[in-house]
Amino acid sequence: MFMLRRCFLMLKHGRMDNTSRWLSTEAGRLAGKVALITGAASGIGKATASEFIRNGAKVIIADIQRQLGEEAATELGPDAAFIHCDVTQESDVSAAVDYAIAKHGHLDIMYNNAGVTGSVTNTVADLNLEEFDRVMSINVRGVITGIKHAARVMVPRQTGCILCTASITGISGGISHHSYSISKFTVAGIVKSTASELCRHGIRVNCISPAAVPTPMVLSGVSDIFPGKDATQIFEIMRGSGTLKGVDCDAIDIAKAALYLVSDDGRYVSGHNLVVDGGFTSFKTMELPAPEKVVK
Ligand code: NAD
Repeated sequence: MFMLRRCFLMLKHGRMDNTSRWLSTEAGRLAGKVALITGAASGIGKATASEFIRNGAKVIIADIQRQLGEEAATELGPDAAFIHCDVTQESDVSAAVDYAIAKHGHLDIMYNNAGVTGSVTNTVADLNLEEFDRVMSINVRGVITGIKHAARVMVPRQTGCILCTASITGISGGISHHSYSISKFTVAGIVKSTASELCRHGIRVNCISPAAVPTPMVLSGVSDIFPGKDATQIFEIMRGSGTLKGVDCDAIDIAKAALYLVSDDGRYVSGHNLVVDGGFTSFKTMELPAPEKVVK
């Protein structure tokens, strides 16, 4: 009788569905969870840290930019903490994971988000291999290092959630320059490969592929493409670069997708690349020749 009454109350307050499974509540979808986010001093990482905290998580911001990272932690309040971390240094990533455990006792969510665009080379024949190595060391090696050390602490607990930031430039070629595009194709591959192993330990591994999001990284990278436009104008152009009518993209849109994937709402999703692009990769105009050049 007591159990029946408890179930009735839970259903009434929206905490169980009619198959008796727990549903996450809107306000506390990450209550009690500890998340480590690399590259969270700005942009997508910072927006996600804020969204995770709003949903009840404790967040460790791990970033190479010390001052900006400390300021972000102060701004986000007592549930945020900063640790300096260069994801190309395995010892830094390992120390960041250990810091999360020392501070909070466990690590539930590892979000490998840090990334750089690298400098543009237009043709593969011009490819600067030193720059290629640099981009790969952050965008790819940094990601697998994060997964390695997250697995180190998550496998013994047989639970955990790992997320990475890929990109639509890792779905189609030709959207960005080779080094960046190749690095993001590789992130999606890392997710498939590691998810296949870690699912046996109750650990989910996923990635998100955003299109253009107006963040410091993308705004600094495109200023040359829009001569005569100021920062505000470029920001608005980037926000509106999707094809979905009536919606512009902001970092919060990626943060909301991240929240879905790491919360119990996404508990049966693993090895997935969630494309968040306002329809960008679904839409391709045909480049027809000018009418006068069409040979009939
Ligand atoms: P951002 O520049 O605002 O944030 C990137 C963060 O990564 C910065 O805080 C930077 O300090 C940090 N970082 C760089 N190198 C690092 C290193 N070696 N170790 C630790 N931290 C390091 O840019 P963003 O747009 O928020 O980028 C976040 C992720 O999203 C990146 O992986 C990027 O490739 C990806 N992404 C961005 C877009 C976009 O249009 N903004 C689109 C698709 C994917």
